[in-house]
Amino acid sequence: MKYFEKLLIANRGEIAIRVMRACRELDIETVAIYSDADKNALHVKYADEVFYVGEAHPSKSYLNQERIIEVAKKSGAEAVHPGYGFLAENYRFAKLCLDEGVTFIGPKWKTIQAMGSKIGSKQMMKDAGVPVLPGTDSGIKSIEDAKKVAAGIGYPVIVKASAGGGGIGMQIVNDEKTLEDAITGSMRIAQSAFGDATVFIEKYLVKPRHIEFQVLADEHGNAVHLFDRECSIQRRHQKLIEEAPSPIMTQDLRCRMAGSALKVAEASGYSNAGSVEFLYSEGNYYFMEMNTRLQVEHTITEFVTGVDLVKQQIAIAAGESLSFDQCDLSIRGHAIECRINAEDPRKNFAADPGKIVRYRSPGGPGIRVDSGIHMGYTIPANYDSMIAKLCAWDSTREEVIRRMRRALSEYIILGIKTTLPLHYAIMNNQQFVEGNTHTHFLQEEHILSTLDRYTKDEETRMQTLAGSFEQGKKVAAISAAVNTYLQQRRG
Ligand code: ADP
Repeated sequence: MKYFEKLLIANRGEIAIRVMRACRELDIETVAIYSDADKNALHVKYADEVFYVGEAHPSKSYLNQERIIEVAKKSGAEAVHPGYGFLAENYRFAKLCLDEGVTFIGPKWKTIQAMGSKIGSKQMMKDAGVPVLPGTDSGIKSIEDAKKVAAGIGYPVIVKASAGGGGIGMQIVNDEKTLEDAITGSMRIAQSAFGDATVFIEKYLVKPRHIEFQVLADEHGNAVHLFDRECSIQRRHQKLIEEAPSPIMTQDLRCRMAGSALKVAEASGYSNAGSVEFLYSEGNYYFMEMNTRLQVEHTITEFVTGVDLVKQQIAIAAGESLSFDQCDLSIRGHAIECRINAEDPRKNFAADPGKIVRYRSPGGPGIRVDSGIHMGYTIPANYDSMIAKLCAWDSTREEVIRRMRRALSEYIILGIKTTLPLHYAIMNNQQFVEGNTHTHFLQEEHILSTLDRYTKDEETRMQTLAGSFEQGKKVAAISAAVNTYLQQRRG
């Protein structure tokens, strides 16, 4: 069954390649777009057709909606996959695609718009009977009102941008004295990052877990969930490590949370792939938001369910009904994803783009590496610092941790600083091994203070491995030359 002849991927890096891989398996031709910064990027080499879309700055290229639609039409692509980030949750772009007769691979623009407001979606879910955290029901109108609400729910509270994403604009407030500054600061950041200064308050949970559910819904009213992912290990409210399933999940909790996730999908008229995010604390869970797109961490759900989420997205967008129902789905084993970022964790995760002088990715049983990098590649400074996803699967959590340690010990990335030593430290942390994670894990376990040792060990290990690799290459080159010489003599 051919869903589309040609598909444009409005993204870059590992996710563009991930989508192209699905297309190749489905016999769909691919169209890549690239900016000035990405002339030599791997996603450009992987595609069947490529189009230049503009300067390095995202607003001039990967966010340039009109130009992208123009390329779709020129190339004859019938559909656009937005990946994650950039235009993936931009309802205006989804609407533009519809108006221009190009299929947007994602939910309907109205759903994206409704779920793009944290305040609006929280209210919608509260009305649908899904638990939400107490807080303001609408944007903060006056400091006096905010003080009243905060006093009512009790400190600490968190100030959040309604249109927010990527943890941007969040401020934790421990007492009334700092509330006003937090609100004005958050409004300023929200205005400049999202063009919308609306902020709201909700109860701040001190050490919650971030647990989310993957859902898939078609355009004929069928919806399933593909179980849970634990995403509690974070820096700056952004995920670093995800695992599926959550180590604390019980049958009863899963049943309740999955029921709520499906209610969220139903209440929002959802179609395509999406994730329903919850915070969990002391036996209770609360709806936080819905991400109306493919998530970075979709890989681990694919590992434990065996479902290819990108192929499902494409089939649903082509109008197909889901080919399975809830009873066909089950969890097999355990999977972990480590996000490899070009960042220096010892310098407050400062981005460290640059040239990769040595590169070798791990492999073997149960390992998947999704990346857009290679040896000699220069990571541009213009985009997100996540450069690869190292994912591992095994039959149990204990075994997958061992497998991840093994895979990390095979990974060589030299020339830039990465989060590899951090992952090594976490995989060897006793609390992590026991599944005791929460959103303040890095601070509470003093992970960063152990990094000097791990970073040194990691660098030595990579240098040694790279050295023996080079040595191996030299030996192979010498024996090839000897063989050629012998052949010539024989000839
Ligand atoms: P964004 O959309 O900016 O990524 P989210 O609402 O998804 O923001 O939240 C990201 C992270 O911020 C959560 O995983 C959690 O660590 C933290 N967070 C958000 N709201 C709360 C809250 N009410 N209490 C505690 N932590 C929170």
